[in-house]
Amino acid sequence: MDASPQAGRPTLRVCALYPDLMNIYADRGNLLVLERRCRWRGIGFRLQASGLGEELDGEQHDLFYIGGGQDRDQQLCAADLIARKRAGLHAAARRGAVILGVCGGYQLLGHSYTLGSEEIDGVSLLDVRTVRSDQPRLIGNVAITAAVQVGTDGDGERVLAGFENHAGHTRLGSGQQPLGRVLRGHGNDGSSGLEGAISGNTLGTYLHGPLLPKNAWFADWLIARALCIDPDELDPLDDALEDATHLSARRAAGV
Ligand code: GLN
Repeated sequence: MDASPQAGRPTLRVCALYPDLMNIYADRGNLLVLERRCRWRGIGFRLQASGLGEELDGEQHDLFYIGGGQDRDQQLCAADLIARKRAGLHAAARRGAVILGVCGGYQLLGHSYTLGSEEIDGVSLLDVRTVRSDQPRLIGNVAITAAVQVGTDGDGERVLAGFENHAGHTRLGSGQQPLGRVLRGHGNDGSSGLEGAISGNTLGTYLHGPLLPKNAWFADWLIARALCIDPDELDPLDDALEDATHLSARRAAGV
């Protein structure tokens, strides 16, 4: 996947956390979107993985990605995340690197994920706590208004559309900003009307699977934040297909 930059262009250095375990919803597709949108613009791209047992140097990457996982795999990763990667992730967050957690990955960016009598500690980059519910899983198409802005889009709010499937119900701490407000779907807990969480450049969301293929504008927002530039500075691309995909995901959610 690696590609050298054109002269004068930067390189986006991406780290996939536990790509062999935290990947149950086409998470590699999200990484591919980042790679393609960089490559099409002459921006270099470097993907490295950090798995179980590997120390993490937070200085070496501009964007960290942790995908969805089953409870069992989350348990395996959580202890390693704290022992070997927590300090690096916090250092990276302090210098403004982007850290994106999707579904199970989102849960591990918070303080804890409680399953019955067991509590799995997270890395506390987001002020959220998740409890596994015995109620039916929160499943379906979902659309939210995102608290991040890239230019203007109709009514001035950007929409993220995707699919969710989680048993965990996530509650935000009192000062924690959500990633967005639910237009359709369940979001963090099925009742608060809130979805995901964002603190600086650390983000978590339940919109998984092809999150970035369905929301190319958001991929560009992440790339720009990770490269410390304004999204408007990115060369425009022919997004006819991507725009159609976004509209189809919105329609699926009824928005
Ligand atoms: N295991 C977690 C839950 O069910 C996360 C699932 C996922 O990543 N899709 O809540």
